[in-house]
Amino acid sequence: MEKLKKRIEQLKKKRPGYGEILDFYQKVREAQDKVKASLKIDPINLGKEWNHFFGKEGFSLIQKEDFPVDTEVSVKLFQNLCQIGKEANPHMAEQVKKIKKAIDDKRIDLKKLLKKEAKEERIEQMADELGLDKKVFLFLIQSSTKPSVEAGMEQLRGELDPETWLKGYCPMCGSLPSLSLLKEEVGKRYLLCSFCGYQWRIDRLFCPFCDNKNQESLHYLFAQGEETHRIDLCEKCHRYIKTIDYRNLQESDPVLEDLATPHLDILASQKGYKRPVPNPWTT
Ligand SMILES: [Zn+2]
Ligand SMILES: [Zn+2]
Repeated sequence: MEKLKKRIEQLKKKRPGYGEILDFYQKVREAQDKVKASLKIDPINLGKEWNHFFGKEGFSLIQKEDFPVDTEVSVKLFQNLCQIGKEANPHMAEQVKKIKKAIDDKRIDLKKLLKKEAKEERIEQMADELGLDKKVFLFLIQSSTKPSVEAGMEQLRGELDPETWLKGYCPMCGSLPSLSLLKEEVGKRYLLCSFCGYQWRIDRLFCPFCDNKNQESLHYLFAQGEETHRIDLCEKCHRYIKTIDYRNLQESDPVLEDLATPHLDILASQKGYKRPVPNPWTT
């Protein structure tokens, strides 16, 4: 947490315009960090057959919905995050008010929703029914179960070899990556799972969204003087992923680095490229 705070201070000085969102990020991360010690989750049972299916026809180790969630902790965290959201900006404040009312009226059963994380479609459908901003609602739910999901991911980490999967989706839970990372002097490339936070290796020249490996149609762009953050574009599927280059950057939270570089997303969007997994903090 101390490292994170320091980096946030650095970024705020460099980009004062992003102060509000960076403060919000810090508060949410602090709230998530605080519950880690008291978290109790059930062991994940993989079943005897997993080895047989794993890696075949797109099978990942488990599904998003298989992560056990500490409901009690998540409910408390949800309430804390609502409070943080209320103070963050008027739009969030209005959404939190609506959510609270729906909980009071028993139109939202928070415990049930957080028990095992509900499917994304179900959460979005619920948001529609209640006239809520889908993205805000999903963000609050997913941020409340995140500590449980990450603990589950840590529990299963030993089952996988991050160096040999080489596919565009997460070997742990099957989700798409939110970011790519370049590490070590030789620049090994890894993907970061948008859901569980697992990292796995892929080829340097590879589009995780369409498996394109042709170097003529894979390019990257960065802002001048900021070579450590770039966007990797694929001309074949017109999608992109943001890459954080840690070869010349001290180790730091990749999600924070993403949050502090929305100008790169604007650049990509102006060129007509789409981001399959948008940053949930900014959208
Ligand atoms: Zn995952
Ligand atoms: Zn592609």
